[in-house]
Amino acid sequence: MSSKVRVRFAPSPTGPLHIGGVRTALYNYLFAKKHNGDFILRIEDTDQNRYVEGAEQYIIDSLNWCNIPYDEGPGKEKDCGPYRQSERKNLYKEYADQLIESGNAYYAFDTAESLDAHRKEHEAEGKTFIYNWHNREKLKNSLALSSEEVAKRIEKGEHYVIRFKAPKDEILHTVDEIRGEMEIDTSILDDKVLYKSDGMPTYHLANIVDDHLMKITHVIRGEEWLPSLALHVLLYRSLGWESPKFAHLPLILKPKGKGKLSKRDGDKLGFPVFPLEWKDPNSGEIASGYREDGYFPEAVTNMLAFLGWNPGTEQEFFTIEELTEVFDLKRVHKAGAKFDPEKTKWFQQHYLQESDNSYIASEFLKILKTKNIDATLEYTKHVVDLVKERAIFIEDIWEQGFYFFVNPTSYDPKNTKKAWKETTNELMKELISVLKNIEDFKADKVSEEVKNWIKSKEIGFGKVMQPLRISLVGSLQGVDIFQIAEAIGKDKTIYRIENAIQIIKK
Ligand code: GLU
Repeated sequence: MSSKVRVRFAPSPTGPLHIGGVRTALYNYLFAKKHNGDFILRIEDTDQNRYVEGAEQYIIDSLNWCNIPYDEGPGKEKDCGPYRQSERKNLYKEYADQLIESGNAYYAFDTAESLDAHRKEHEAEGKTFIYNWHNREKLKNSLALSSEEVAKRIEKGEHYVIRFKAPKDEILHTVDEIRGEMEIDTSILDDKVLYKSDGMPTYHLANIVDDHLMKITHVIRGEEWLPSLALHVLLYRSLGWESPKFAHLPLILKPKGKGKLSKRDGDKLGFPVFPLEWKDPNSGEIASGYREDGYFPEAVTNMLAFLGWNPGTEQEFFTIEELTEVFDLKRVHKAGAKFDPEKTKWFQQHYLQESDNSYIASEFLKILKTKNIDATLEYTKHVVDLVKERAIFIEDIWEQGFYFFVNPTSYDPKNTKKAWKETTNELMKELISVLKNIEDFKADKVSEEVKNWIKSKEIGFGKVMQPLRISLVGSLQGVDIFQIAEAIGKDKTIYRIENAIQIIKK
């Protein structure tokens, strides 16, 4: 086996990539980069019935968006291609044959109906039908039939499958990098189908052959594949190949209670379970995605990194580069990891605060455009400087700072009722005169002048400040009122106060 670390992410293009799949890809990527190895994308599309249009591109787009690009794979062909199993179809038969020759596999001709009948018969007796050493000698296969009969059936074009002959009574010892030593009693295994006469291998055979031919050194995948581990180890042994190392990542559980986080949970529970939005090509149904919901990829990958792993230190924020340095399979947990959508928001808030305000402003300008609002980058950046700390997503800048871009058209009735008294109209008119006299309309200056005037009138600050805020914002929300006044400028400030007097009129 080559000493260079080579890992693969091997999704089946059966729909959008679940966030759990993204975590598998991330851990593979981190492991590869930590060891200066290669990260390979292999599309496992042997099951044509489950193939979904657009799913492969979705997988590629998701990895790119998360900044975990693959080194080899579709579109990045290197020596071990092609990287789609459907394009490798002709490769697998030889290995199925090899397994038959060595006595590790056999032809089976049982029809779906006959297997169903066996299943029902067993059920009626309270038993479970397993196709393995229990009964394989009694079924329609090359272990029970004469070699002439087998040859005749194949020649006639009868449908067959090739099944692995799982050993009886063996305690298989193997190691999982996360779970440690494992012992599996092979008597409980069923004789899995490896190959079908339609020329297609099943997942198990294709997966093993490809991992071998692609020189994969470590198989890092979800816990749901743990039940296949024994078969895979046995297949390597039967083919005379050295097995890669295996690591099965813990399940991702629903935020509350037990059970696996499923593809359907997301929109039902109010958070995305997909990296990107996905439109089902058949139903047209849309499932939400982290990207479209405004999350930064850094927040998503940071959250995913902690979903089943921890660095063993107090540090919580990690860029991908930092993760590649500290990531270690030894620190991946065995127990299921609870998905925590609030934690993702918390990471998002951090990365928004960390990111460059010019970038946020340029992205926010796109949102303003959709509202038909024109603003300069400089002005928008100034607004971002003022309101960013209150935002989690770029989109929140609107909710937190819309009043920098539009005049209020309505006034919060509850606030207005409380703050706009009989005398307020007069006070506001006087305030306008004070403002008119301020030459240098800077926040500090405006604040000083207005406050001095209030003091000179010997009235409470709230009597002016609250109506002023209502005039400029439409409610009592918002950042420092004098910063707002400075940003929108003297004319607009006065205009908004005049408007409020007109509309609110007592
Ligand atoms: N095609 C399998 C999947 O969809 C790959 C499992 C593995 O990594 O071996 O998850």
